[in-house]
Amino acid sequence: MSDLVRSIREKYLQTLENIAGAAHSVGRSPDSIKLVVVTKTQPLEIVRAAIEAGVTMLGENYPEEGVMKLQSLREFSAVEWHMIGHVQSRKAQLVAENFNLLHSLDSLKLAKKLDRFCGEAGRTLPVLLEFNVGGEDSKSGWLAGDEAHWSALLDEVAAVVALPNLQVRGLMTMPPLGSTAEFSRTFFQQLKRLQEYLTSQFSHVDFTELSMGTSGDYQVAVQEGATLVRVGTAIVGARQYT
Ligand SMILES: *Cc1c(COP(=O)(O)O)cnc(C)c1O
Repeated sequence: MSDLVRSIREKYLQTLENIAGAAHSVGRSPDSIKLVVVTKTQPLEIVRAAIEAGVTMLGENYPEEGVMKLQSLREFSAVEWHMIGHVQSRKAQLVAENFNLLHSLDSLKLAKKLDRFCGEAGRTLPVLLEFNVGGEDSKSGWLAGDEAHWSALLDEVAAVVALPNLQVRGLMTMPPLGSTAEFSRTFFQQLKRLQEYLTSQFSHVDFTELSMGTSGDYQVAVQEGATLVRVGTAIVGARQYT
């Protein structure tokens, strides 16, 4: 095992241990939580090392970068590739054809495009609906900071759910940047309540997955019900912009 693989493996296992600790602290089973390792901007060697270290789910933010990596690493056929960043309409086909799960579906317009490309490719794309529960206009996701207005979301959610080639699996959020992990807690709680609300409104849809939590706050997210956490820098180090 190379030093790089060993170092990533240590941090990966430590993160899994922290997830298990957070889960046990609230009486959850760690088995219900999946760790997505975010490798955006990281070079191929790091992604390969992460896979060799035992990582089975990778998260990428930019469709072209992600597709380049997954095509280069096809030999690792058991690895799942998740798109977690905002997808521009003109990248919909790349995402529809290549990824195992889209965390960041944030508009009906994008959903319709993805559905059309999935239909042409003969595949179904599992998706999570991204909600902006922090109420900042700069973030993507359906605005859902105010519970009094949740019913206004129902028409669009119903339209997404009705698309034949997308399979809605749950919800995702990225809270506003805060200085502490505790700052994120109320936003995670809000997403959990929204999950319960949507479940009560769409009895035939499975909104089980809750994608929330990053390096800074994944333990809090687990305590609040996350089933998918997206951890980058704590496992693969600082992002590498070139
Ligand atoms: C970059 C990113 C992450 C990972 O953030 P870290 O702080 O590196 O753990 C998680 N989710 C999304 C949507 C991201 O863009």
